[in-house]
Amino acid sequence: MMNDKTQTAIQLKPEELEAVYTISKIVSQEVDVDSALEKITHISRQVLIFDNAVVYLKEKDRMEFEPFFARAIGRGKKMAYDLPWGDEAANETINSGDVYIREAKLEPDKDRLEQGFYLGLPMITSGNILGALIFIRFGGPSYTKEQINLAQFITTHVSQLFEQKRLVETIANLEAERRLARLQDDFIAMVSHDLKTPLGFIKGYTTTLLRKDTDWDKETQLEFLTIIDEEADRLSEMIENLLDSYKLKSGTIHMDLSEINLSVFFQSVLGHISTQEPNLEIEVEIEPSELVVYADHKWMVQVINNLVNNASKYAPNSHLTIRAYYKPEGVKIEFKDTGPGIPSNSLQHIFKRFYRVPERSAGVRGTGLGLFICKQIIDSHQGEIWVESELEKGTTFHILLPYSPPEEEAKNG
Ligand code: ADP
Repeated sequence: MMNDKTQTAIQLKPEELEAVYTISKIVSQEVDVDSALEKITHISRQVLIFDNAVVYLKEKDRMEFEPFFARAIGRGKKMAYDLPWGDEAANETINSGDVYIREAKLEPDKDRLEQGFYLGLPMITSGNILGALIFIRFGGPSYTKEQINLAQFITTHVSQLFEQKRLVETIANLEAERRLARLQDDFIAMVSHDLKTPLGFIKGYTTTLLRKDTDWDKETQLEFLTIIDEEADRLSEMIENLLDSYKLKSGTIHMDLSEINLSVFFQSVLGHISTQEPNLEIEVEIEPSELVVYADHKWMVQVINNLVNNASKYAPNSHLTIRAYYKPEGVKIEFKDTGPGIPSNSLQHIFKRFYRVPERSAGVRGTGLGLFICKQIIDSHQGEIWVESELEKGTTFHILLPYSPPEEEAKNG
């Protein structure tokens, strides 16, 4: 074993300098650690002789170090699985925190693969040892001082790669925590405002009916009970919407794709809806009539319900045209109403959770969750949803669903 701390004026040859520069570029540009290590190994090999290169990393929350990446590219490449990979060299390097060298005593009659020359370099960032980079030569030659210096340069960059990975993971965790905190804030805001309103009605009318000092006539009782019934329905719808939106947002919902014939689908869904929306004239054009999409039936019903329901609420007494047709990029479905339209400054917010257009929402019940839910559902189908609107002319919601059968979805996913 040899300790070498002497890093006096280091002279790199032009090709070595170029290799180190290329490696530093890979570290700053490549997001995938495995692919970066693959490239770095390849480039290092052009300027540094070695048969094997192994990165040992500290196991999370444990004191042990395990090989994270190992490549046999020189001698012994064909029998990589049987080779010694340098566990001992890694342990020594990590324990000492210093350059480690162990060279076999050459015996000409012995298999070269049993005569390893190990060079171990500690990977250090911000004063912490995160692992070791081990180079192995089978049957020599010895590592020169210049080669050790070069290997140290390479190790610095490899350490940087892992430091970056750690930072990216830390940021992703923080983002997830922040998102969760935001969701909780949203939830509290929602519960304290929207859910309280119907609950207030239910409580108020029930208490009134139960008053012992007043005898309500049958008609008034029925009127109050109808209000309680409607508000309870509203409350349950809101809770359902809220739960759907949270489930969809968390990405835990699996879309159960099946072939849906759009003509049959719209006939059945609108059959249910139109009796509830008498103030809307609905026209459906499906071209060709056997047009199909691969989608989750239950969630697509929800999308159609929300869009038709919105047209009825915000564009009452208008004409709603639903069109579906093929496009090269997928199946297009449009919902075009002839209502009052949406002001342009609201269009960019319309699919956000809880957003309601101030000019359109007065006196109209809603939670601002319907379009958010539609977007989550369409996103989960790898589709797109967007809106176009012109004041006094009307609003069109556009949906584009990819035309791909379930087998391909499964393959891609
Ligand atoms: P909600 O209907 O519960 O308020 P949505 O997310 O379904 O929530 O819709 C968000 C807002 O978009 C609505 O509050 C309404 O102001 C506006 N909006 C939706 N559809 C239309 C439409 N067809 N015409 C005009 N405004 C609409």
